[in-house]
Amino acid sequence: MADTPVNPTNDKPVGAMPWRWPLHWQILLGLIIGATIGLGIGAWAIDQVNQLPVNDKPPPELAGIKAAEFATTSYAYLFFDLIGDLFLQGLKLIIVPLVTTSIVLAVANLVGGRATDGGGSPTGFGRLAGKTMGYYAATSIISVVIGLLVVNALAPGVATNDAGQRVGILEGQDLTAFAGDQADVDKKVGGKQATDFLDVFREMVPPNVIEAAAQGKLLGLIVVSILIGYFLGRSGTEPARAVKALTQGIYDLTLTITDFVLKLAPIGIIGLIAATFGEQYAKLVPDGRLQVFVTGLTTFAGGALLALAVHFFIVMPLILLFVARVNPIRHYRAMLPALMTAFSTASSSATLPVTMECVEDRATVSKKTTSFVLPLGATVNMDGTALYECVAAIFICQAFGVELTFAQQFLIVVTAVLTSIGVAGVPSASLVAIVVILTAVQDALPADALPDGVLLVSGMGLLFVFDRPLDMVRTAVNVFSDSVGAVVIAKTEGEAGVLTG
Ligand code: ASP
Repeated sequence: MADTPVNPTNDKPVGAMPWRWPLHWQILLGLIIGATIGLGIGAWAIDQVNQLPVNDKPPPELAGIKAAEFATTSYAYLFFDLIGDLFLQGLKLIIVPLVTTSIVLAVANLVGGRATDGGGSPTGFGRLAGKTMGYYAATSIISVVIGLLVVNALAPGVATNDAGQRVGILEGQDLTAFAGDQADVDKKVGGKQATDFLDVFREMVPPNVIEAAAQGKLLGLIVVSILIGYFLGRSGTEPARAVKALTQGIYDLTLTITDFVLKLAPIGIIGLIAATFGEQYAKLVPDGRLQVFVTGLTTFAGGALLALAVHFFIVMPLILLFVARVNPIRHYRAMLPALMTAFSTASSSATLPVTMECVEDRATVSKKTTSFVLPLGATVNMDGTALYECVAAIFICQAFGVELTFAQQFLIVVTAVLTSIGVAGVPSASLVAIVVILTAVQDALPADALPDGVLLVSGMGLLFVFDRPLDMVRTAVNVFSDSVGAVVIAKTEGEAGVLTG
């Protein structure tokens, strides 16, 4: 990656002008500017709705949707959305070459080994892979259990049940208040079946690797890259060495492009946040959605945020302190740019280049570890997502007045962990997994648990209201857990320099 700075986690501005500040301060400034612009766009859009002639005024429950329409068709929104999209696409364009080349090289070096890499045997690779998967499985299970405890203790769905009935959300599955969202739900999640979580395993072996790359199906690509790396590492032939050198060349080039794209992150983040805040503010404020939002904040969203906070601020630092034996504060600081990018993009895949840069340059973990652990983690390790899936599924059951048995809650825990492995690192990806979980739960419920014809999935409209803000937070948690995994594995592999820079 970029040259290692003398003091990689130094967070003091080094010049008066923002472009001379360290990256995370620049990104923070971008976040603040973007949020201010976004709130301005949202307020303008609400004003437009208020000024409509009486005959054109939408009914109060649809005012938010109308305001969002004004916001998202305004020139200001379109401009900032374009800037944000260009940045996002810049990050996305790096992902496939970065993930494939870094994993191929990491595995080939681990298996074939160069003394300087500290690798050298299939056992070395097996050990690293085993530790990585062990860490990912353990933290995912811990996070889901935290979600389970919090959602049972707070029972947010019970409160929302009343609020929901008052605004006619759940009664007779009347989702008028969220009519616009409901269409989105159907578009995104329609036609799912309980057994769809098996797709997680199906996608591990892509029949066509080019198609998997084109569709950004990283899980399959990772498996193929591990296979290629493994056999490349074991083969000592001249052509194999040439393939490895070519892969190294593409990898180095990708890193140079990453550095370039990262310099543009603060501007890209202004665009992303301005567009997101503009749309969300316009959508939530006018028609009482803010009230539902606030009710939700104190109940469901509050519960989800609390559980995410426990994982982020208690479990992760404890692991850093007692397993990796590093100072958690240093690690939080090292990861700031990645955390803010995850928050702004709501995509752990798009954040991967920044995560790799932060873990390698700022947390000083070796290339050998980061290039295997992080691409894998961005795809399969999603603690925040697994936790959220569990909280959301149980919340919807509570809102429908369904009492879950221990076995049914256990089913939710298992499906949340499994689906979080297969969920793509893109915005709102967990919604699809939640549909799969709810369908599995519905199948497991006795016939009289719900009134005839009522589907748990129809409660998804509730989640849509605050999906984006929660997505931003859970993505940051996903990314942070990957980075902690890299530090833990580096330390247990005997890397001395981690977070000492
Ligand atoms: N947006 C999340 C991520 O990219 C996935 C999700 O929970 O929707 O990590």
